[in-house]
Amino acid sequence: MIKKFIQKMLGKPSGDSVKPHFGKRVEVPVSVHSIDVALVDERALNVVLTLQDAGFEAYVVGGAVRDLLLGLRPKDFDVATDATPEQVKGLFRRAFIIGRRFRIVHVVYGRGREHEVIEVSTFRAYLDNTAAEQVSGNERTSKSELAGMKHAVDASGRVLRDNVWGPQDEDATRRDFTINAMYYDPQSQYLVDYHGGMQDAKKRILRMIGDPVARYREDPVRIIRAVRFAAKLSPLGFKFESKTGKPLATMCNLLADVPQSRLFDEMLKLLQTGHALASIDQLKQLGLHKGIYPLLDVVVERADTPFVKAALSDTDRRVGEGKPVAPSFLLACVLWADVRSGWDARLARREHASPALQDAIDEVFDARIGDVSGRGKLAADMREIWMMQPRFEKRVGSTPFSLVEQARFRAGFDFLRLRAEVSEIDVALADWWQEFSTADDASREDLVQQAKEEKAPGSNSPKSRRAPRRRKPAGTGSAGSGSMGSGPSSGGPTQGA
Ligand code: ATP
Ligand code: MG
Repeated sequence: MIKKFIQKMLGKPSGDSVKPHFGKRVEVPVSVHSIDVALVDERALNVVLTLQDAGFEAYVVGGAVRDLLLGLRPKDFDVATDATPEQVKGLFRRAFIIGRRFRIVHVVYGRGREHEVIEVSTFRAYLDNTAAEQVSGNERTSKSELAGMKHAVDASGRVLRDNVWGPQDEDATRRDFTINAMYYDPQSQYLVDYHGGMQDAKKRILRMIGDPVARYREDPVRIIRAVRFAAKLSPLGFKFESKTGKPLATMCNLLADVPQSRLFDEMLKLLQTGHALASIDQLKQLGLHKGIYPLLDVVVERADTPFVKAALSDTDRRVGEGKPVAPSFLLACVLWADVRSGWDARLARREHASPALQDAIDEVFDARIGDVSGRGKLAADMREIWMMQPRFEKRVGSTPFSLVEQARFRAGFDFLRLRAEVSEIDVALADWWQEFSTADDASREDLVQQAKEEKAPGSNSPKSRRAPRRRKPAGTGSAGSGSMGSGPSSGGPTQGA
């Protein structure tokens, strides 16, 4: 009564919302779902069993269950539990509570580049948005306003805080698509389904749980997620249920209120989970090719240019092969045209090459990347890839020897290779570097000598150069054509040298 009165005073709706249908718990046995428990990542298995041994409920959840059910290889394994983040943290040696809007625990296994993170989320309670604290949508004020709140929405119903724990059926109702809302217990091998995810998976239907319009309003990022899943699953025959697909284009304007950093992350997921080209097709088909996020607009616009297309299909191929991909590499490809034109303009004004390139890069960052905080490393990597390109032209003296030792050599070289693939530079230059990077010291000297001779007036072009004399077999690194750079650990040439 008092609450209703206060809400009335604050001009909020009465709170007499209709309680949603949480769905009936259905336990599907292995004889029906046929998931092979051996395909569950051993670290995820360890997390589930540790939680269960401590007396909690724990399941593999979401995309991994969906993918296992569909015969796809899960990208990562998420775990859902009724343990609170603090309780989860207490059970593992290296576990970190992260996120404010949505607190979860990262349980970390392994070290360095080989490390793996299992994301553990606590079952979320159903959100009665009419009862939530309502705060202004303004990002800056809401941050301080939000401190200490567990559940908050802005005036349009967008959820700003979501940290109220609840039972599993409520957690299931909070998830996005029916096929993403299934839980798998590797111990009993039961799959738990509340919203007909099993049936939708069988019928190849992408269906939002609840009322799609309300769910997109609650979290507009679900619009981008819908595109991603459509791209990923349409080759398997998946189609949107009509109520789920219809509002996508018209509701896209709600994305304007979503923090830039979240949009940036979602854009990367769209481009880096192995279905970049298909996602761009989906965006076009759904009428979402413009307006989601400025940088994504650029990607879509350039997706048919040879260089960007090569970069996108290369990313898809690498993800398909289970190889790592670096966002810095892809974005460096997407924005290379801008860097080049800014650089050319400066060179035409007779500016010095290297500072001109630096300035052109600064300009591109200002115009295209903007103020997405926490992107320092990404920007530094992009800069390094670009700055390396003119250095590849210098194949004399000590330059090649120092360049090949640079930490990001592999990424820079892969970028060069991609440029050669689309005839932006001579293939022979990329071949030379491939050879140089895998050769021993003596053969490297030969290669440098050759390059010097080619440069001399009246010499042959690099294309017609003879193959260098090999004194020792090349190193183990394979600089596969156009492969995405991710540093020397990807088996790059610097290891073989
Ligand atoms: P992928 O295979 O690309 O990782 P995923 O379905 O696992 O796909 P994640 O982003 O890893 O996607 O999210 C894990 C799960 O969390 C989802 O399957 C879904 O159940 C839930 N989820 C994630 N984001 C949202 C959201 N914005 N709204 C509702 N549920 C979400
Ligand atoms: Mg996932």
